[in-house]
Amino acid sequence: MATTLLSDVRTTATGRAADVVIEDGTIAAVLAPGAPRPVADEIVDGGGGLLLPTLVDGHCHPDKTTWGEPWLSRQPAQSLADLIDNDVRVQKQLTRSVAERSGSLLERYVAHGARAVRAHVDVAPVHGLDNVRGVAEAAAAIGPALDVEIVAFPQLGILRTPGTAELLREAVGAGATVLGGIDPLGLDGDLDGHLDIVFGLAAELDVDLDIHLHDTGETGRLQVEAVLRRTVEAGWQGRMTLGHAFYYADLTGSALADLAAATAEAGVTLATCALGGPDLALPVPELRAAGVRVVLGSDGIRDAWSPFGNADMIDRTHLLAYQLGAATDDEIEACLDVAAHAGAELLGLPHSGLHVGDPADVMVLDAECAAQAVVDRPLPRLVLRAGRVVAADGHLTPAATASTTTRA
Ligand SMILES: [Zn+2]
Repeated sequence: MATTLLSDVRTTATGRAADVVIEDGTIAAVLAPGAPRPVADEIVDGGGGLLLPTLVDGHCHPDKTTWGEPWLSRQPAQSLADLIDNDVRVQKQLTRSVAERSGSLLERYVAHGARAVRAHVDVAPVHGLDNVRGVAEAAAAIGPALDVEIVAFPQLGILRTPGTAELLREAVGAGATVLGGIDPLGLDGDLDGHLDIVFGLAAELDVDLDIHLHDTGETGRLQVEAVLRRTVEAGWQGRMTLGHAFYYADLTGSALADLAAATAEAGVTLATCALGGPDLALPVPELRAAGVRVVLGSDGIRDAWSPFGNADMIDRTHLLAYQLGAATDDEIEACLDVAAHAGAELLGLPHSGLHVGDPADVMVLDAECAAQAVVDRPLPRLVLRAGRVVAADGHLTPAATASTTTRA
C-alpha cells in the first residue's frame, strides 16, 4: 500500500493547517493539527495552502481549439450556420493536428486543477472520425492525470448533412462513449427526425446523450419539451444532458418553476458555460433548488467561435459566479459545487469531498478560503490525481502521465 502524506494544508478559512494521509489514491485520514505523523512513502508539502477538490469541465470542444497556434482574428457571423462554416474553414487551415492541439489543452486543464472533461468532438463527413481519433490519442497521452469523456458531436447537423448518422455510430467504438445532437429543429429542421436518430442510436449502442440546444423562444420550448418527454419515454432519465439550453434563460416565475420541476423529474442535466452575451445566463440557483443537476463547461476554447476560454475551470467558475451576480461566500461556493461535484457526478466519478474515503483528487492553492480562490483565480500550487502530484505551479510532473498511477 502506497502512503502519501500531504502536509500542512487547510480545509477551512479559519482552521489550522493539518496533514492529510493518502493511501492508494484515497484519503485515509485527516489528522488533527499537531498530531504525530505516520510513516509515509512520500511527503508532499502543502505549504499552508487551501485544499480544494479538483474540478470538472462538463462541456468543451478541444478538437476545435487553436491553442498554441498564432492568433486567429475571428470573422463576423450572423447565424449559427455562419459560425459553423467559419469553424470548418479554420479547422482545415490549422497546421498542428487535432491530437497536438487538444493535447496541449488537456495538459493545461490538469495544470490548472481539473480532474476530468467531457469533450464534444466534431463528427461529420468533412472530418470523418479524424477529430474523435485525435482527441482519443491526446486523452491516451495525458493518461490517468485527466479523465476525458468523448461525445460524438454532429456539429453540422445529422439530417442536413447526409452520412453523419453512420459516422456517429462508428465514432462509438473509435473513442466516443456519449452521443451528441444539435438543435434538432433550429439547425437540423426536423425535431422528431433528429430525435428519432439520436434516441435510436443511444438505445442501440447503450450510450448516454448530450444534445446542444441553442434555440430560444418558441423553437426552444418545442425542443426542450420534446427532449424531456422522450427522455422519460425512452427510460433515459439520468442519461440525458442539454448543453447551453438558453431557452431556460427566457423563463421566470411559475413558467421557470414548472419547467425546472419537469427537468428534474425527467433526470435531465443542464450544461452551462456561463457564456457572455445578452440573456444567456441560466437561472442556476433556481434550477438547482428544484433538483436539476447543472454542470459547468468552457464550450469552445480559443477556436473559430470565440477568442475566449483558457482550459482553467477555476477561471470558468469565476465567470459563472460573476454572471450570476454571486456575492456571499455561500453563493460563490455554490458555483464551485457545480464545477467540482455536479460535473463529477455526470461523468460518473466518485465524489471528491475532502473526507476520509474520498479520492485524493485535490489541489492546493494560495487563498484564504474557497470563495476567495474563485474570485482571485490563483494558479494551483499543487494538483493531485488519485494521490499523485500531477502538476506543480502550472507544470505537469513526470508522474502525471505515468502508467503506474493508481486510479481512485
Ligand atoms: Zn458546445
